[in-house]
Amino acid sequence: MCRRMRSAMKFDIRWLVCATAALVACQSTPNSSADSSAVGEGFSKQVMEAGPAPISPADFPVSDRVNYQARPSRMIVFIGDGMGHAAVTAASYAQSEPLSMLSMPDVGFMTTHEHEFLTTDSAAGATAIATGHKTHFEGVSVRPGTTREQESEPEHQLSTLFGAAASAGRATGLIATSRITHATPAAFAAHRSNRGQYDDIALDYLRYKPAVMLGAGTRFFEERADKRDLFAEFEAEGYTVARSADEVRAASGGQGPLLGLMHRSDMPSASSGERAMSLEEMVKVAIEVLDRESPQGYVLMVEGSQIDWAGHDLDGPGVVSETLDMDRAVAHALGYARERTDTLVVVTADHETGGMSVLDPPYASRYMMLLGGEERAYRMTLPDDYDVSAHDEPLPPSVVHHPLPRVGRFGPVESADPRMTTSFGFMSVGSRAFWDGSRRYSASHTAVMVPIFAEGPAAAEVAAARDNAQLGATLQKLAAAPDDEAARQPGSAGPEPRPKNVILLVGDGLGLASLSAGLYSRGELATLSMEHRALMATHALDRLVNDSAGSATAIASGRRSRVGVVGMAPATAGGDLLPVRSALAEAALKGKRTGIVTTTSLTHATPAAFFAHRASRAQEAAIAGDFLTFGQRLGRSHGVDVAIGGGARYFRTSHLDALRAQEYAVSTELPERLAAGQPHLVVLADEGLPPAAERGADNPGAPTLEAMTERALDYLHQDEAGFLLVVEGGQIDWALHGLDRGEGLLAEIADFDAAVARALAFAESEGDTLVIATSDHDHTLSVLDNHYGYHSGHCGVMSACGGPFEGIALPVATEGLTNAQGFAATELQGEFGAPTMTLQYDWIVQEVARRVQMGGPHSGNMVPLFASGPRAAELGRLRDQPQLGQWLTRWASGN
Ligand SMILES: [Zn+2]
Ligand SMILES: [Zn+2]
Repeated sequence: MCRRMRSAMKFDIRWLVCATAALVACQSTPNSSADSSAVGEGFSKQVMEAGPAPISPADFPVSDRVNYQARPSRMIVFIGDGMGHAAVTAASYAQSEPLSMLSMPDVGFMTTHEHEFLTTDSAAGATAIATGHKTHFEGVSVRPGTTREQESEPEHQLSTLFGAAASAGRATGLIATSRITHATPAAFAAHRSNRGQYDDIALDYLRYKPAVMLGAGTRFFEERADKRDLFAEFEAEGYTVARSADEVRAASGGQGPLLGLMHRSDMPSASSGERAMSLEEMVKVAIEVLDRESPQGYVLMVEGSQIDWAGHDLDGPGVVSETLDMDRAVAHALGYARERTDTLVVVTADHETGGMSVLDPPYASRYMMLLGGEERAYRMTLPDDYDVSAHDEPLPPSVVHHPLPRVGRFGPVESADPRMTTSFGFMSVGSRAFWDGSRRYSASHTAVMVPIFAEGPAAAEVAAARDNAQLGATLQKLAAAPDDEAARQPGSAGPEPRPKNVILLVGDGLGLASLSAGLYSRGELATLSMEHRALMATHALDRLVNDSAGSATAIASGRRSRVGVVGMAPATAGGDLLPVRSALAEAALKGKRTGIVTTTSLTHATPAAFFAHRASRAQEAAIAGDFLTFGQRLGRSHGVDVAIGGGARYFRTSHLDALRAQEYAVSTELPERLAAGQPHLVVLADEGLPPAAERGADNPGAPTLEAMTERALDYLHQDEAGFLLVVEGGQIDWALHGLDRGEGLLAEIADFDAAVARALAFAESEGDTLVIATSDHDHTLSVLDNHYGYHSGHCGVMSACGGPFEGIALPVATEGLTNAQGFAATELQGEFGAPTMTLQYDWIVQEVARRVQMGGPHSGNMVPLFASGPRAAELGRLRDQPQLGQWLTRWASGN
């Protein structure tokens, strides 16, 4: 890669990529005694046995419960306020064990936009989940645009999940670690034009009468502007009112509904040790009360309220401790649900907060050095005249190193550095320096899609929601439906047949944020339409944040390896590198056809992991040699049946001659048709192909990824034995390294998605084909709009708020996008107008890029996987990248 960069210095973007690659690949010195020259020619079939056993199969016990296509009578819905995929990732690494929510079998990803803007607040976000409808910014389960005068009129109120449960004769319950009248719980049992009407919201609870309410906020019941004593009024309705943890515990053994509020305003933070009762215990009490009061079933909403608050404070450790606190409550609910057949558990979020990412210290330290060190970097995030000593609580640092205890096997077990770094988005951190100090500084929410985890009856239906209002509509339908015990019996359908063909598409660097950006710019992505989804960890053995070589090796072979290593892995942690057999090699050995298509060089890390074995990804000439010897190492007349990509500079004339001797048709343009009966090598460019914006379906010298994929499929599908085709959208990663915030990145994502669409169309017409779309690792991208953060002056660094940084406003698609009709609601948008999208990266990275020419790093955030076709459900259960390689290898070997 670096050689390639030196030859292409005229392109800024490529220089940036090289600068960044230098952080991982070029300077990487894998601690291996395996001489890479020993792994090339003469490499016998025997040497390429399946390779060492996986070192760290990372215990991911995903529940194997059957997901009955039926109706639950009990439903427990967890909302982690502000809990994005990075929070889930960071909390998992912090406890060195995957979160309990990751053990839930069905996973989805949903958009969170509100009625008229891209980035939601918690009230509009919770309204969508509670009612199945979007509402205006800060609206609580009322129709968009409802005023305070109108909010009490039934025609302005949206029917809620709790209303549906009540009409089906089921009880309801609310739990929060904030005031119980806060936006998220309120949306389930109140109708108000603005979330700030806490006193009014408490009155609405008197009308809805949830059988149990636990949390905080006594002041909204007994210190009210209207002087009413709501505690007395609830008691008159038969409630037990409990004001302390002991009273709540005592009441759980009693009878009748329970109102337990244990703090005056909000609960203290989970890490303070001052919380009267843990979320886990509140869930336990609530389930006891609900089971006692309503044997016919219930709906319980549980909010991990303060994940969001820690995100607003740029407090990574706080995000972690609040997420872990909620996950312990999830574990309790799952333990309860797994004893029964009638309970659906759902875990999701209302939105992401702060544009958080998980980095590892070596990256963060390098960037901080470029800003003059950690102390200086920290000062840069504070106002010039800010006096730390004059404030009660010092502002948290923008970049924090956390201990990363290794009590389990989950994490970079070979790394000597037991820490991780959480970082936040550029606008959120950079704007703090422009804060006028008039109130507490608060980072902004983002519009990145959030995960859904579901288990129990109808879990697959729930996890299929792609938008928060769709999730709300599904939950409401389930809550209103009568219990149907007969339908809960598991079906007798046998196992699905194995797919004949597998098409694996890897979007290099494609994370949930880039998918969100692609979706909002296009209105629809084929990738997101796929029927099964998973969220996977991507760490390497030696680093929390992986590179494309280490992660492609995991995807290709099922073996976790080290950063920079291609097709090799140690047999045990710390051991020497040994070559490992890829799923592509296994498929070829079993007589299947094989193909590789990429927009980068064929010798680049991701494609290389499928046919090469090198201790360093930088050995691209040697990797070209491995392509040449792939066939003979497998004991076959030739290697990969069809390979299309760049990298001509690494394929020497002698290589090409030797390949022709293996019957390869070698071409430098994409042929109209790849002739059957012989293997093909199509080398389209000296290095990588031009960027997506410069490629075209009808340009044989620089085709789209879709055209390349189509040509490969036309060729491969002629064989009865089936095939494995690997397709890499390699330049999404390059655009992200270049901190592209505009059309360049969006064009790469669209190019990749078109290839996914082509693969899905092939599977649709041919049958027997499994399509998998995933990513090797994430970056630090997140998505903002022109409203949230701007409305309350928390955008000081952006030019639109008078700051020095130019945000790029990108158009947002309304056509095709689910539940986006309100984007045209100009009367509610006021001065902001219709939503536009702004892309940002992590603060420290973008701040460095403003000063020196420097690209961005990968992140350790978990990445999404999508699968459609025979056995796709098995892929939806993967939580760790090597598990994908193990699945592919098993499939290829016919097991
Ligand atoms: Zn918030
Ligand atoms: Zn990269």
